[in-house]
Amino acid sequence: MSFASLGLSDALVRAVAATGYTTPTPVQTQAIPAVLEGRDLMVAAQTGTGKTAGFSLPILELLFPDGQRPSGYKRTARQVRALVLTPTRELAAQVHDNIRSYATELQMHSACIFGGVGANPQIKALAPGLDILVACPGRLLDLVGQRAVDLSAVEYFVLDEADRMLDMGFIHDVKKVIAKLPAKRQNLLFSATFSSEITQLANRLLHNPARIEVTPPNTTVERIEQRVFRVEAGHKRALIAHLITMGAWEQVLVFTRTKHGANRLAEYLSKHGLPAAAIHGNKSQSARTKALADFKSNGIRVLVATDIAARGLDIDQLPHVVNFELPNVAEDYVHRIGRTGRAGRSGEAVSLVSPDEEKLLKAIERLTRQRFEEGDLQGFVPPAQAELNSDRPERPRGANTPSRGRGQPRSNAAPRGQGRADKPRPGSKPRRPQQAMPGIAEPEDAVARERRLQAMGNRVVPETPAPKRNRPRREKPALLGS
Ligand code: AMP
Repeated sequence: MSFASLGLSDALVRAVAATGYTTPTPVQTQAIPAVLEGRDLMVAAQTGTGKTAGFSLPILELLFPDGQRPSGYKRTARQVRALVLTPTRELAAQVHDNIRSYATELQMHSACIFGGVGANPQIKALAPGLDILVACPGRLLDLVGQRAVDLSAVEYFVLDEADRMLDMGFIHDVKKVIAKLPAKRQNLLFSATFSSEITQLANRLLHNPARIEVTPPNTTVERIEQRVFRVEAGHKRALIAHLITMGAWEQVLVFTRTKHGANRLAEYLSKHGLPAAAIHGNKSQSARTKALADFKSNGIRVLVATDIAARGLDIDQLPHVVNFELPNVAEDYVHRIGRTGRAGRSGEAVSLVSPDEEKLLKAIERLTRQRFEEGDLQGFVPPAQAELNSDRPERPRGANTPSRGRGQPRSNAAPRGQGRADKPRPGSKPRRPQQAMPGIAEPEDAVARERRLQAMGNRVVPETPAPKRNRPRREKPALLGS
């Protein structure tokens, strides 16, 4: 199957080839011909399936048949022909970038609008009229209110990540936007999960839609290896640093439940030689863009994000996703791990589960209809309580630590190995050497590891209770998106 055989013109096929895609993904194979036929679509597909190209390419084909703007077409001031609505700024920017890369040979006029940045450049971009507008609902409604944009001539309407729109409380804004659209239009709805609320919305929005289901809703992609580590809450940060180091993970996306928790973890990892940055709703747009750019270019190794901030992140070949805390809503787990194993690649998703999260884990296992295997702790030794209360890696081991309990080893530090396992990939920036830290072993050779495990009786020492201050607080969702 080729892109040309799906009915796309040479201009688009060449642009797609230049992007590096050789074969259409399953969602593209099904969606592209259906959109070209003029059908409404209801698509169950999560991020990573290639859904953006699945709607962008046929819309571009319809707007520019055979790569040309239809003769006699005149741009009308402030009017828009195709509207793509997304829940977050990052997703909007990502979708717009993708569309532009497919339209390199077309005389396309497009813009991307979202809140958190000045409105004037957006108003200017909208003024002459556009072929495609990618927007977050809040800012779009503001600009509609100011008559900077007129939605009465929209021919193609895409509602992307509809379930997330709902979760983030944008449903009323979405309905207001829909009310501004003309009655006659083609509608494409994408959602990773289909709750009864989404189905209701779909029933109102879509006319005789073609239904496409790429992975069954609420299941996770099979090629993603998923493992859990049962660990006390207070030991999680040391464990995550240990896993990153031992596994030589180069690019890791970590989810926390709270903004504060994201900041604290990023700070801890950075202090301990694993360059990290946090993104969440309290960060400015420029800080978030910079963190993402640094992450993509391997300038930082770990990106710590809240669920809301992570929506729409499109990072090629993201190999590792870590749930530092499990999400309160089981569906969010599906979204989170959809960040790895993208477009046919394999990935690894790791969840750190403290005793109070067992219920959440059960709910996720029920939803995804699988049981996750326990991960290999690779010699992780939990830090002592006193070390838990300190972020200072330079503190002498054993100083001021409480007396050892029965069965605990003399030192909580795992033996140091020689050299680093995480050799930089060709072309990536060299990394700073790591500092020693409580509970975190540097890579060691097999003989040293075997000797150490024998000395420990081949088991992990008992864990100390979690300090109270690590309890997460919930993030208010309304800050983001538009
Ligand atoms: P999406 O699900 O639209 O967020 O796309 C996920 C990732 O897959 C993006 O990085 C796309 O650039 C990439 N992608 C989309 N279509 C293809 C394709 N046919 N072949 C390879 N990669 C693709």
